[in-house]
Amino acid sequence: MLTAKQILDVTKRSHPIIIQNAKRVRVQFKKVEAGSDAYGEYRQVVAICKADSIPRQVTLKFYGRHDLGAKTWMSCTCEYFLYVCEVALEGKDSSDIIHSNGAAPSVTNPRFSPRTCKHCIAALLNGAQTLAPKVKAKPTRTPKTTTKKPTKPEKSAPNRSGRSGRSGRMTK
Ligand SMILES: [Zn+2]
Repeated sequence: MLTAKQILDVTKRSHPIIIQNAKRVRVQFKKVEAGSDAYGEYRQVVAICKADSIPRQVTLKFYGRHDLGAKTWMSCTCEYFLYVCEVALEGKDSSDIIHSNGAAPSVTNPRFSPRTCKHCIAALLNGAQTLAPKVKAKPTRTPKTTTKKPTKPEKSAPNRSGRSGRSGRMTK
């Protein structure tokens, strides 16, 4: 699996225009969830990314680090991702065949360069990798149960039910 930085660098080197276009994409982060799969624990970020036309849905999974050095899986609903990026990224375990038919992009990306679309780039430029899953705030004031028990006078409640301790004794 490639890191976000590696994918970003490949894209920057081979198609700098994508980086330029990504700067005009508006990113709305929708959901950040924690999960785990065969590659380990990840943070999954879902974002709606809109350039000029239809809003696209970007899904990113970050493993480990909270920066661009994190191993990253990504997917986008746009045509560019479908026709150019998906199969090449899948070959690096940084995506899966979801939108395309898995055929080699022999015309659009014959060298299988693992680059990505402006929507995914925009999500990265907006810091998707730094987001943490929202967890409900736990009540921090609840005292933890430790091995040390508070000293309670446990003998303070004498057993008043039996008037005589000998009442239960059987007489032969
Ligand atoms: Zn896209």
